[in-house]
Amino acid sequence: MAEDEKITEACRLLEEAKNVVVFTGAGISAESGIPTFRGKDGMWEKYRAEDLATPYAFENDPKKVWEWYDWRRQKIQEGGPNPAHLTIAKMEKNFPNFSVITQNVDGLHRKAGSKNIIELHGNIWRVRCLEEQKIFEFLEVPLSEIPPKCKCGSLIRPDVVWFGEAMPQKEISQAFLLSEECDSMLVVGTSVLVQPAASLPFSAKTNGASIIEINLAATPVSSIANVSIFGKAGEILPEIFQRLEQCLSDGM
Ligand code: NAD
Repeated sequence: MAEDEKITEACRLLEEAKNVVVFTGAGISAESGIPTFRGKDGMWEKYRAEDLATPYAFENDPKKVWEWYDWRRQKIQEGGPNPAHLTIAKMEKNFPNFSVITQNVDGLHRKAGSKNIIELHGNIWRVRCLEEQKIFEFLEVPLSEIPPKCKCGSLIRPDVVWFGEAMPQKEISQAFLLSEECDSMLVVGTSVLVQPAASLPFSAKTNGASIIEINLAATPVSSIANVSIFGKAGEILPEIFQRLEQCLSDGM
C-alpha cells in the first residue's frame, strides 16, 4: 500500500472508532531532540543502563545518576512537545473516549495538552523522598544542588521506574483495561520490546481493536497491525489529523 493509501486507511479506521488509545514510546519524543533508548543514536549506545537507571546505581553514586537526569531534564525542557505530541492532544476532542498510554517519563504529552494520560514508567519531573516516601513535583532545571535533597534533608530520587523495579500496579492494570476496551489503538514510536507494556497492542487486537502503527521501521506489532505507516511521527500524525478533520466535517 502506498503511504497516501495507508493514511486514508488509518483515517477510515479512526472514523469508525469511539474509543481510542494512543500507545507511545521514546520515538515520539525523538523529534523533540530527546534520544531514544534503542537503535541509532539511542541512549544505551553511549551509556550503560546498569550504571545509571537502577536502584543499585543510585545507592552507589547518586551524584552521577542525578547528573544524567539533570542533563535529560534540560534536554526535555529545551525540546518541548513536538507536532506529534501536539496533534495527539488535539485529536482528543474528536472521540468520546480517548487516552494516551506512554512508556515515556518526559511529561511531554501533558505539556502538549493531553488530559487522559497513563504514565507506565513514572515521570522525570516528579521525585520521591527516600526517607519519607513523599512524592512531589520538582521542576528545578538545571539543578542548583546535585544530588538534590528533600526539605527533611534526605536524598530524593526521580519518581521513575528503574531497571529491576516493578511497574506501578494501578497504571498497568488501567492500561490493560483501556487496551481491552478500545476500538482502535495508535502505536507510535515504540520498539514494543519492554514487557509487560509490549503486550498492550496484542491485548487490544485480541479484543477486536484495529491497530495503526507509526514508526520509522517495522516492530513486532507490524505483523498484527491493520496498517503500519513508516516515517516520522511528527510528520505522519499531523497528516492523519488533517485528513480526519476533513472527513469528519464532510460527514463522510
Ligand atoms: P525504544 O528506544 O526501544 O524505541 C524507539 C522506537 O521509536 C523505535 O522503534 C524507533 O524506530 C522509533 N522511532 C524513532 N524515532 C521516531 C520518530 N521520529 N517517529 C516515529 N518513530 C520513531 O523506546 P521504547 O519502545 O519507548 O522503549 C521503552 C523504554 O524507553 C521505556 O522504558 C521508556 O521509559 C524509555 N525511554 C523514555 C524516554 C522518554 O521519556 N522520552 C526516552 C528514552 C527511553
